[in-house]
Amino acid sequence: MINVTKTFLPPQQEYDAILKRTWDAGWITNRGVLVKELEAKLKAYLGVTNIIATTNGTLPLQIAIKALGLTGEIITTPFSYVATTSSIVWEGCTPIFVDIHPDYLTIDETKIEAAITNKTSAILATHVFGNPCALEAIEAIAKKHQLKVIYDAAHCFGVSYKGQSIFNYGDVSTCSFHATKLFHTGEGGALFCKEKYFRSMYLHHNFGHDGPDVIRSLGINAKMSELQAAMGLAILPYMGTILEQRKKGVLLYNEILKDVKVRTLQLREETEWNNSYYPVIFNNEVQLLRVKKALESKKIYARRYFFPSLDSLSYVNGSNCSISKSISKTVLCLPLWAGISKSEIDLVCKIIKDNI
Ligand SMILES: *Cc1c(COP(=O)(O)O)cnc(C)c1O
Repeated sequence: MINVTKTFLPPQQEYDAILKRTWDAGWITNRGVLVKELEAKLKAYLGVTNIIATTNGTLPLQIAIKALGLTGEIITTPFSYVATTSSIVWEGCTPIFVDIHPDYLTIDETKIEAAITNKTSAILATHVFGNPCALEAIEAIAKKHQLKVIYDAAHCFGVSYKGQSIFNYGDVSTCSFHATKLFHTGEGGALFCKEKYFRSMYLHHNFGHDGPDVIRSLGINAKMSELQAAMGLAILPYMGTILEQRKKGVLLYNEILKDVKVRTLQLREETEWNNSYYPVIFNNEVQLLRVKKALESKKIYARRYFFPSLDSLSYVNGSNCSISKSISKTVLCLPLWAGISKSEIDLVCKIIKDNI
C-alpha cells in the first residue's frame, strides 16, 4: 500500500530517552521543560522571535481571531483545509470568500479590496502547500484599510520568503504539527506573532492564567503536552535529512511528469520551499477520478486536497469562487514523504500517464 504520506518516526530509543526526562520529572504537561526546550529550539531553527507551542494547528487560528478582538467579516480563501473557515465561524465571525490565483493557488490579492466592507476586520489567508501568499500586496491592503492579517501557515514548516521565515509575516501566523505534516508532534501546532500581541496570545492559550492565582483574560486550553514535545525534540535533528529527501522526491516527480499534460504547483519567486506536497492539477474532474481509481486499484492512495472548495460548505454563505471550485475538483496530491523510493514514484507516474 502507498499512502499520500508516511509519518516520519524517529528511532524509538531516541524518543524513549527524551520521554525518560518526563518520567524523571514526574511532570507531563503545563509547559514543562520539554515544551520550553522545543520552543527555544524551534525559535533558533526557524529564525522567529515569538512562538507558542500548541496542542494542534486549529486552536491557534481560533486564539488569533479571539485575541485580536476580530468581529464581523473576515476575508478568507476558499482553497484551504476546513479548519481555516471553521475557525472563523466558530469564533462568531463571517467568512467572506475571495477567489484564488489560478497558478499560485493562494488568495487573489487583486480581488481583496472589492470584498472589503465597513464590517471587515481582518484577512485570514493560507500559504497553500507552503507557497506564500502575495505578502507585500496583502500587507499594503491591510495597512490601508486597518485590517489585521492572520496567515494559516499549517504547511509552512521550513519555508522562507525573501530570506526570512514565512512565520514572521502577518500579525499572526499559525502552523500545524499534525502527524501528516512535514514536522510533527503527533498532534500539535504553534502560533507565531508580532511582539505586541505575544502576551495576549500567550494568556489566551492557557485559560488566561497569569501565574497560578490570577486570571487575566479570557482563555482556552491549547497547551502542548510534554509527550507531544518529546516527539518534536526527537524529530528536529532529522529535519535536514527530511527536507533533503522530500526534495529528491519532488525533483523525480518533476522530471517524470514534465512531458505529461497536467499542471503542477507554480512557486512564488524568492521562496525557499519545503517540498511539503506534490499537487497535480488535471484537465478535468473525470480525468482526475479515472487516475484516482486506477491508482487505488494498485492500492495507491493519493488525496483530493483541498476538496471541497470551502465556499461550498453547508454552514457558510455561498460565493462565486469559480477558480477555487474548479481547482478543488481537479487537484490531487500525489504520495510524497521523506524516503519515498524511485520505484514508488515511477509506478505512480506510470499509472497517471496510462490514464490521462
Ligand atoms: C492541517 C491543517 C490545519 C489544521 O491543523 P491541525 O493540527 O490538524 O489542527 C489547518 N489549516 C491547514 C491549511 C492545514 O493543512
